[in-house]
Amino acid sequence: MTSRPSRPAARRARRAAPNPDAVESHAIKEQGRPDKGSYAMILAFAAALRSTCLSRKVGCVIVRDSQVIATGYNGTPKGTWHPEEFPRPCPCVGGVSGADLSLKYCAHAEANALAQSAYRGSSTAGADIFCTNFPCIECVKLLISAGIRAIYYVHGYPDVSGLRDRYLSQAGIPSHAIAWSRIQPHLSALAKG
Ligand SMILES: [Zn+2]
Ligand SMILES: [Zn+2]
Repeated sequence: MTSRPSRPAARRARRAAPNPDAVESHAIKEQGRPDKGSYAMILAFAAALRSTCLSRKVGCVIVRDSQVIATGYNGTPKGTWHPEEFPRPCPCVGGVSGADLSLKYCAHAEANALAQSAYRGSSTAGADIFCTNFPCIECVKLLISAGIRAIYYVHGYPDVSGLRDRYLSQAGIPSHAIAWSRIQPHLSALAKG
C-alpha cells in the first residue's frame, strides 16, 4: 500500500515545480521586451514629444544605476514664453544646427536634463545619457563636467566647432549608436495594444 503525501508536502511539491505554461508564456513575452538601453531610448523619444522648439524635437534621459533620474527636451526655459509667442521667429528655425546657440531661444534637451538633475538634487556622477540626437559641443562640455559616463544616441547632430570628438576622447567618454531599428519594433508593438 502506497501512502499518499501529506497535503502540505503536496503543496510544496506543486510550488517547487515550474508551471510549463507560465514559463513558456514568460519566454514569449521576453522576446518582445526591450533591453535596458532600448527602454531608456524609448523614454528619450517620448521626452522629445514634449519639445517646444519650432525647429527640431530632441529628447534625452539620464540614467544612473538603471534608474531614470532626469528627463529633458529642448525648448524655452521653464516658465518663460513659448517660442510661438516670441515677437520674431526663433533663430532655431532656418538657422545652422549647432551654431549661434546663444542667439536661439531654446535650451537644449541635455542642458535641461542636467538642470533638472541639479534642481532635484540628483547626482549625475557616473550616470549615462540617452539622447535622440548626438549632443552638441555646448552640451558635451556640460556633460563632461557633470561626470556623465557614456553617451547613447540614435540620430547624429552636426558639430560646427570641430572640437566635440576631441573633448569626448580627452574626457574618456565613449559614445554608442543605438539603431532606430532596435527601437521601432517596440513602438509598433505598443500601437497594437
Ligand atoms: Zn528651438
Ligand atoms: Zn546641445
